[in-house]
Amino acid sequence: NPGGNVKVVVRVRGFLPREVERGAQCLIEMNPQTQSTKLLPPPGTDPANARAQTRKVVEEKNFTFDNSFWSHDTEDEHYATQEDVYNCLGEEFLDHNFEGYHTCIFAYGQTGSGKSYTMMGTADQPGLIPRTCEDLFQRIESNESANISYSVRVSYFEVYNEHVRDLFQPRTDPPQYLKIRESPTEGPYVKDLTEIQVKNYTEILKYMRMGDSSRTTASTKMNDTSSRSHAVFTIMLKQIHHDYRTDETTERLARIRLVDLAGSERAKATEATGQRLREGGNINKSLTTLGRVIAALADPKNGRTHGSRRSTRDIVPYRDSILTWLLKDSLGGNSKTAMIACIAPADYDETLSTLRYADQAKRIRTKAIVNQDHVS
Ligand code: ADP
Ligand code: MG
Repeated sequence: NPGGNVKVVVRVRGFLPREVERGAQCLIEMNPQTQSTKLLPPPGTDPANARAQTRKVVEEKNFTFDNSFWSHDTEDEHYATQEDVYNCLGEEFLDHNFEGYHTCIFAYGQTGSGKSYTMMGTADQPGLIPRTCEDLFQRIESNESANISYSVRVSYFEVYNEHVRDLFQPRTDPPQYLKIRESPTEGPYVKDLTEIQVKNYTEILKYMRMGDSSRTTASTKMNDTSSRSHAVFTIMLKQIHHDYRTDETTERLARIRLVDLAGSERAKATEATGQRLREGGNINKSLTTLGRVIAALADPKNGRTHGSRRSTRDIVPYRDSILTWLLKDSLGGNSKTAMIACIAPADYDETLSTLRYADQAKRIRTKAIVNQDHVS
């Protein structure tokens, strides 16, 4: 199915100590049969009163996604572990990569909702990225034969404040930022980004950790970097197949993009109350643009003016931010793409905004093709 929709899943995390302390109540219910997710109003909400104060209706909301991962209480029989998330999503996407498709999985959600836990995880509970790396090399090693060879290259960058920084290069003062270029065949790319050839799981893990620490080190120095930065981990998988009977060589190239987005609370530019405006630095241009790109892709006709002959492609504002420009293909082009909406269990407003965003993303269709070439 080349014209597939973006796959959208939702995951709710357990309470953090601070939520337990304030006696927070879980506002999320998930139905394992229907995969539906319900958001309940906080206890004690008087709908009429809430409406008068905020002009917003605080009521029960229902959504349905491709999967809903219940990671709220480990005691529950439906508790979704890191392995469950990988088995439901990561594995399928890696299958696509071996078939020669580009893929992208991105985690969206407010700061503290579990994006990094889901993508990177911890040493004890590895997330999607390390599991993908492990499965990738397991498959390569079990497929080893005389007529097929593999090449795996990785890169890792972050977009911070509309600048691109190479996470495989040491931090410098002043920081070194990379430029974006656009090639007619490959689309937008980061110029001079370090790409490292890796031979096995141990090696890729080492670079992944190195890059990740370059990102997190910063967060202790410059307050809160990781909630403001978008981290993009990319694996290029090349399969070179040689047919000895016909003496033909074919190459399949797949790009695996795994993205940990900045906290979605940074996107609230338009809802800015006086408070938000004063915290002007909190507004993240890449994230607000991502919202507009998703809206334009989800409802192509909305952006069209009557009688205009411009195509959808002209209207989607990819080039308005660094992140959306770089992820252009992953969002609306040659890629199979998934979004993981991460939600906190006891935050009605932010969760509603994340679920609405995710609901819109379900309508996006991409046009993935097998990237295969005869080379001789
Ligand atoms: P984000 O990257 O969205 O800001 P984190 O991934 O850092 O959020 O998660 C916030 C906290 O919640 C961390 O301490 C993390 O370990 C914990 N956490 C998130 N999701 C889960 C989960 N599914 N199971 C256990 N702990 C989780
Ligand atoms: Mg994080």
